[in-house]
Formats: sequence, structure tokens, C-alpha cells
Amino acid sequence: MANYRIPLVDLRAQYDRMKLEVDAAMLRVVESAAFILGPEVEAFEREFASYCGAGACIACGNGTDALGLALEAVGVRTGDEVITVANTFIATTEAITAVGAKPVFVDVDPTTLLMDTRLVEEKVTKSTRAILPVHLYGQMVDMDPILRIARQYSLKVVEDAAQAHGAEHWGKRAGCLGDAAAFSYYPGKNLGAYGDAGAIVTNDPAVAARVRRARNHGRSAKYEHEFEGRNSRMDGLQGAILRVKLRYLDEWNARRRALAALYTEKLKKIPDVKPLATRLGAEPVFHLYVVQSSEREALRRRLADAGIEVGVHYPIPLHRQPAYAYLNLPSEALPETVRASARILSLPLYPEMTEDAVSAVVEVLST
Ligand SMILES: *Cc1c(COP(=O)(O)O)cnc(C)c1O
Repeated sequence: MANYRIPLVDLRAQYDRMKLEVDAAMLRVVESAAFILGPEVEAFEREFASYCGAGACIACGNGTDALGLALEAVGVRTGDEVITVANTFIATTEAITAVGAKPVFVDVDPTTLLMDTRLVEEKVTKSTRAILPVHLYGQMVDMDPILRIARQYSLKVVEDAAQAHGAEHWGKRAGCLGDAAAFSYYPGKNLGAYGDAGAIVTNDPAVAARVRRARNHGRSAKYEHEFEGRNSRMDGLQGAILRVKLRYLDEWNARRRALAALYTEKLKKIPDVKPLATRLGAEPVFHLYVVQSSEREALRRRLADAGIEVGVHYPIPLHRQPAYAYLNLPSEALPETVRASARILSLPLYPEMTEDAVSAVVEVLST
């Protein structure tokens, strides 16, 4: 981070602005010795459920576990198929295979790079059990067709909301539309902990009850285990830190939107650097600001030379990863996903970034 004039994200700058509050919260936990779960985590669960407009939030160890716990709780089992996308972080599909199910990929819409909902229905088979839309880059997938198909074929819907804290679809927030949703609080996410942390959000009391036990060894009372679960609990420290940061989330997301709008406006003068589209009805939170260009590699080098850190999310679609060679998918499958993977570039974006820094990035892109 220190090597870049403009980093991709700047967590240090964020801490500096709320140091007193965060330090006090951490000290509270250390002095109470409630290191795992405990009152801070319970309070965070209530506050985050309410933030999402959902019935319940169950905190766990990380976003990958949150996805796995959600899939298991909605009833996905060995041999089932789960429809998702290949333009995502591998955690999405690791969670599917962790419960013994098989990921079935659909292509993405070339303008948003989100699940192309027109292609979902043709992938439904007798084995399909769930649809797993990924609200990538902070923009929600169009949930209406997904919920319609799910109703028609009796499928479950689990949202991967790891990049979408506070994102909206026609005024409803990520996490409250599917049967369950998974959030990650990995430090760099829009709402990030100071280590690994995650949560499941759901409106279904049965799913909430199942996850609450499953994350803690299937435990119903001390040394009484209703079923075998796992150890995936949130630390008290993370709960306390997240409670402080949650109070800033709307302000940070608004700032991300304003900076994204500035990028989009300034990039109009560079025809070969195209921002992603925002869907009608979507209110994104810009976890990442992604553009597409036929000159991606040249731009990447030029930005790095100018001291500007960028990323590619993600350079290798999952169906082309060695880890999924066993699925035997032709490498020319999912043409839009493959095409985008060579063209996408994530530009620096974080709430503490200045307008001048946005101008400086665009300046380098235009020369
Ligand atoms: C970060 C992320 C995850 C996994 O979260 P962890 O907390 O790192 O386990 C899952 N899906 C997506 C799309 C992510 O960006």
C-alpha cells in the first residue's frame, strides 16, 4: 500500500478517522473477556439484521462459511445442483461443493457482469436445488426473475452479498429477498472487520435457528449437540468493531456512489474505457469501480508506473480454474464471462479517496 501514490483501498485512513471509537470498543471486549460471540456480537446481529431489513442475522467466522451454512440450512445436499456464475470469487463455489453439491454456471450480462437472469431457467434440471446470485462489485442482481423461477420450480435462493452491504434492489436491501444471504466482513469489504468475519441474514426463523446451532457445533445447550455442526463463530472483538463501523456504512456508501459518479462522468471522454452499467431499480454500493477496455494490460502498466494501484476481479473465470477441471466444461463456455475477464480493471475507490485522486486516475487513463 505504501508504495502507491493512490492505493486500491486505504484501511489505515479509515481507522485514523474513528480511532477513538474503535479503540474504546476493543478495550471494552478485552476487559469483559467475551472473546467469542457474547454481548457485542449479539448486539451486532440485531443491528445488522435491522440494517438489512431482515428478520435475523447470525454472525459466523467468515463469508465462505456464511455461504456454506446458508446452503446447508436451506436444504442443499450431496448431489444437488446450484445455479450460479463463474465471474466471482472462488468462495462462492467452494461453499457449494462443501455441502456436496455441484455448481452450474450461467453466463453474465455484458454490461453489468452480473448473472444474466434470462439464462437461468434453461439450466434448471431435476437436480437443481438452489439459485445463488452474486451481487458482485456492490450491485444487486435483478432478483425478480430469480424469485419467479425459484417459485415456479420450488428452488431456494441464497444471495452472495459479500460485496453488497447496503446495496438495494427497488428499495430493498441485499440480504432480505432470498431464503438466506451471506455477508463477508473481510477487512476490505464495504463493512470490514479487523480479521475474518461473516454473517447469514434471513427472514426464515427455521433457517435462522438451524444456522445458529450449526455455526457452534450443532449445540443446543452446553455439551448437548442436536447434530454435528462446525466451529464458525464471530469473535467478540470483531462484533464490537463492526458495531462502530456499521454506524458509518451509509455515509461511506454514499461517498463511494459520489466518487463512482465522478469517475463515470470523467470517463465519458475516453471511449475505450467503459464503466459497468447500473441496472434499472438497482442502487449499487460500489464495492469496486470496474471498467472494461480492450487495452486492459497497457492501462494496468501505465497506472502502476504512475503509482496507482489497480486490481482485476477476476482474471480467471471459475470454469477455467484448475480447481474445476473436473467439471469438464469447455473453455469456450460462458463467452461473455470469458470476454470480460480479459477486459476488466478495478480502479481505486474507497470513501476516504479525494476527488483530485479520481481526476489523477482518469488523467493517466486518458494519456
Ligand atoms: C469476499 C467474498 C466471499 C468470501 O468471504 P470471506 O469472508 O473472505 O470468506 C464470497 N463471495 C464473494 C463474492 C466475495 O467477494
